[in-house]
Amino acid sequence: MFNSLSERLQDTFDKLRGKGKLTEADINVAMREIRMALLEADVNFRVVKDFVASCKEKCLTAEVLDSLTPAQNVVRIVLDQLTELLGTTESKLVLAQNRTPNVIMLVGLQGSGKTTAAAKLAYLLKGQGHSPLLAACDTHRPAAADQLATLGSEIGVPVFRGDGKDAVKVASASIREAVDHLNDIVIVDTAGRLQIDEEMMQEAVAIKQAVKPDQILMVVDAMTGQDIVNVVQTFAERVDFDGVIMSKLDGDARGGGALSVRAVTGKPIKFVSMGEKPDSLEVFHPDRMAKRILGMGDVYGIIEQAQKVADQEQIDAAERMLREGFTMDDLLGQMQQIRKMGGLAKIISALPGGERALAQQGGVDESSLGRIEAMIRSMTKEERARPKIINGQRRKRIAAGSGRSVQEVNQLLKQWGEMNKMMSKMRAATQGGSKKQRRQ
Ligand code: GDP
Repeated sequence: MFNSLSERLQDTFDKLRGKGKLTEADINVAMREIRMALLEADVNFRVVKDFVASCKEKCLTAEVLDSLTPAQNVVRIVLDQLTELLGTTESKLVLAQNRTPNVIMLVGLQGSGKTTAAAKLAYLLKGQGHSPLLAACDTHRPAAADQLATLGSEIGVPVFRGDGKDAVKVASASIREAVDHLNDIVIVDTAGRLQIDEEMMQEAVAIKQAVKPDQILMVVDAMTGQDIVNVVQTFAERVDFDGVIMSKLDGDARGGGALSVRAVTGKPIKFVSMGEKPDSLEVFHPDRMAKRILGMGDVYGIIEQAQKVADQEQIDAAERMLREGFTMDDLLGQMQQIRKMGGLAKIISALPGGERALAQQGGVDESSLGRIEAMIRSMTKEERARPKIINGQRRKRIAAGSGRSVQEVNQLLKQWGEMNKMMSKMRAATQGGSKKQRRQ
């Protein structure tokens, strides 16, 4: 996601960094590049205009231009503006304390990912100790209820189908069902169409009136780009909603829709969906997303993900690696964790500069984990602890012992070096990354 935008913005910043002192003309060139990058990412043109204007105004001050690190200040300004554009702070799912069940209604176009988002949200809430009920109120597309039923049984969440005919009746009956079965949250999946149409809007409004949702979330497909802005605006006017679930951010979405939606409608993005699996719905953090777009990684995101799958011992080990770098033994120990966390590429892309490194290297071969394991197991204890001592002779021995080629051993050692380099970048980023600290 955001790959090309991210790449272009980082190129612009690299050029600024290379200049040392910045003039007004340099800022103008950079702002022009940022404007082009945003437009090509399909961000709404009005949003781009305002964004660039406010960045420019803040950058063209004596405070920035005469500072010792003008390029860093420009990056900070763009980061702040981008964070603001995305919503500044996390927008929580607001549930009423004094109402059982709480009702969350999902709306959106057909194919936006509504039905899967309903199941993902149920899974997330179940993990937080809730007892959700899914209500299949997309009665126009028969396969939708079946799809929800399949997803529900996968994640162990009941699905209410009612008579499967009248969406409003199914929605109302689902509330009674939840009361009877002590479900504290009902997630109502509604029908969508390929385009906005009157019948869909009327039905959504009728369901809203019938079940009085505590939260209405609109599911928006990130691949749609800025065209989605009109659709979102219409939904905001007709049904009104509290926030957005941005789906399919794992794809090669250019990001325009995600970057425009908040500015155009004032509605916050509350969740992002990064895949088809039930656990791929994440709470949206504007600051972290802005950092990712600017190539600064999402260290907190990866730590959270690690905490989900790791025990305390592993968390301590990860902290030590962050401090001291990591050995081949650490790599072996982490292999299992890496698999649990969704694979190497996912982790590397969350590190500062990681997405770029991945793009430059043409990605990571995930099946290489098994081969790497074999090579590490062929190393001596000392070699695992201090891979730098592995000379040509040792490389040959490791290759023979693991049934791999010397080139593969070379590649592993190179990757180990690069990953350690990334770790030290990450360390610099989490410590504030001042030049002084980096030199130590
Ligand atoms: P609905 O018509 O709005 O209910 O859409 P669905 O929930 O049926 O989703 C449409 C398609 O998009 C399905 O094939 C989903 O598996 C897929 N999908 C939904 N969310 C995501 C996502 O976050 N990432 C990816 N890659 N696919 C998704």
